[in-house]
Amino acid sequence: MKKKVFKLLKALSILFFLFVLIITIAILWPLPKMEMPEKHGNILVKSVNIIDVQSGDVLTNRDILIENGIIKSIDSSGVSKSNKADIIIDGTGKYIMPGLWDMHTHSNQHSEWLHHPLYIANGVTGIRDMSGQLSNIDSYWVGSKERLKWNEELSNGIRVIPKYILQSSYQIDGASSVPDDFPEFFKLQNDKDIDSLLSFYKNEGVDFIKVYQQIQPKSYRKLAQEVPKYGMHLAGHKPMFLSLEEAVNMGQRSFEHGRIFMYESFPGADSLRTVNNWQYFFSQSKRSMVEDFNPEIATNLMRRMQKKNAHWTPTLQTLKFEASAHKEAFLNNPNLKYITTVRKKLWWGIDVKNNKKRNLSDEGKDLSIDFYSASQEQVKMANEIGVPIMTGTDVTDSYVFAGFSVHNELEDLTKSGLSNLEALQSATIVPAKYARLDKDYGTIETGKIADLIILESNPLKNITNTKTIDGVLKNGIYFDRDKIQELKTFTESIASSFHMNVKVIYSLLSSPLIRVQFAD
Ligand SMILES: [Zn+2]
Repeated sequence: MKKKVFKLLKALSILFFLFVLIITIAILWPLPKMEMPEKHGNILVKSVNIIDVQSGDVLTNRDILIENGIIKSIDSSGVSKSNKADIIIDGTGKYIMPGLWDMHTHSNQHSEWLHHPLYIANGVTGIRDMSGQLSNIDSYWVGSKERLKWNEELSNGIRVIPKYILQSSYQIDGASSVPDDFPEFFKLQNDKDIDSLLSFYKNEGVDFIKVYQQIQPKSYRKLAQEVPKYGMHLAGHKPMFLSLEEAVNMGQRSFEHGRIFMYESFPGADSLRTVNNWQYFFSQSKRSMVEDFNPEIATNLMRRMQKKNAHWTPTLQTLKFEASAHKEAFLNNPNLKYITTVRKKLWWGIDVKNNKKRNLSDEGKDLSIDFYSASQEQVKMANEIGVPIMTGTDVTDSYVFAGFSVHNELEDLTKSGLSNLEALQSATIVPAKYARLDKDYGTIETGKIADLIILESNPLKNITNTKTIDGVLKNGIYFDRDKIQELKTFTESIASSFHMNVKVIYSLLSSPLIRVQFAD
């Protein structure tokens, strides 16, 4: 008997040892580097139709000369000095537009493999990443340190990524979002913490403080008051315990997600700002938010935002997911092959299950669908009033795909009342102006950076034509159809690999920020 037990124990310990060994090897297994395509000093795009995203005009049959990644000249076809170019791209019958910006993303330590190639392949040449770190490098989330290094490598031509526009702090939400062992000032429990926090992030090269929903009004007000002195601004969620009107008046420059007007324009709006458990109250109030929506209140708020130039990033894809989680056709997305098995099975899988259950239950029936339609209606209202709207997707939320989802968001914005031109603007010139980078980005003009997309068909005619990508130009590199396919294949093969999935689990489990975010 003793012998048997001993044998069993021995076998078990060998198995355990092997398991640890395999996991360790997977964690340490080096990931491949994306090969850098050839860079061209001079590129000539010949006989192409230029989409002017300011006016909506199409400038037909132009030659665009690009030198070291900058637009050197734009001439009527045939006039330019084609002999100077290292590569000539025939643009006959095609359309060219500025690269798209996704103004709401979440990158992580694996974005180099899982997200960056897909952004470029989809013509997304700029992103505003909405997460950040505290005082330590996180094992999962990236912060300004990584993003600024990536941007530098992009300018040095050793990495091809979308440019990281504007650097975000960690989501500032008060004590509950700060894990133990981090400096106390992140919790914003007294006035002097505000200055410590702002000095800290200023030093980190951060451009804006991302405010989250549970931040206390006192901290928020002080933050809003102090932040301009540090040359930064506020952006993020609508703080739950403060009115949207006050947050707009205090200068928050961008508001995220499709619910901001819903929180404010129903009979329970005041209670929502004062209850102890706002999440519970919110889920109980969803129906009232849709059914008792007061357009007058919303209109006034929109007018205020327009006046203060406060931007709105409705991230319709997230509400669309909630409204569609019970539909097989929606769930069978061909882009799932780009998502790690871990995320698909655990994260998204659980999300699908919960939303499906809600959508199919008696009390939840049609609620998410009505909620989504209501937010689309509010996009229409806000757009008519002149609130600047920005395209954002919320990569890596459930069923949001890096790069691909930008095109879906554009389409859904047009289904929410934006014209095709306005949708294009919301991903080009509007965010470029928001980031105060319109001198270099946002339109196709001489002297601007040549982040460009070549399309088979005119997106002003049909917004889904933004998907007819024939080529992408970024940093003097021309990605033709073959190279675009290589980018996609690169991510696809890594997303399903065993070692990448182990790495993702390991980095999630090691992240104190993930632990508090999930606990919330
Ligand atoms: Zn987000």
